Amino acid sequence: MSGKILMHYAKYSRTILDNIFIATYTLLTMSTTEPAILNLSKLLTRDPHAIRELSQEGSFIPNQEFSTEEYRLEGPLDWSISIYPTGGDDEFLLTGNVSGQVTMDCRRCLEGVKINSSSKLLFTTTFDPKLTEPVGLIEGEDDDILVFSETQVDFSDILTQIFMVDLPLTAVCENPDTCNDLRNIIADDSAEIVEDESTESGNPFAALKDIKLES
Ligand SMILES: [Zn+2]
Repeated sequence: MSGKILMHYAKYSRTILDNIFIATYTLLTMSTTEPAILNLSKLLTRDPHAIRELSQEGSFIPNQEFSTEEYRLEGPLDWSISIYPTGGDDEFLLTGNVSGQVTMDCRRCLEGVKINSSSKLLFTTTFDPKLTEPVGLIEGEDDDILVFSETQVDFSDILTQIFMVDLPLTAVCENPDTCNDLRNIIADDSAEIVEDESTESGNPFAALKDIKLES
């Protein structure tokens, strides 16, 4: 009898452990980054009762090939995309957002500065199997049109490109106390040279000043 209870208990605690494991696993996978892959087959269905729209969000590590000397992509980019049909057969409206951080050089001291940026997405979207890449921006009459040619599409690269378009041209340290403005350093240096030249000639305390500096 007691053996049976023990077995029962073991089975029960095992279930608890399993649940804890599943919960931890879910939490971990929720916070990890993965490519922004969207399954668009739902949009192209001819089923009149199907809801032909989708909303998805996530966070991915951008491809380092997009990093430049001016803009260093480091952290993940957060994104959200919603796609709705606009009436036409394979015509949709895509809205969303991509945001994250990029490191740039401060234009005054040349130290790396982390810049937060965010880009809004608003595109007329269409399906065209003739497009050679899975997804691309095609020049339209007024605005670019986002075209996809496959049903399973990785949006990571195109989101990275859109994010980078809206980045500021220059950056500057947020805290002026830690930003060593190179122009000030140069100005200070030349002022010191002038000062040295004017004070050291015939000044009996010039030697004392040097000692003071060294201590
Ligand atoms: Zn600076």
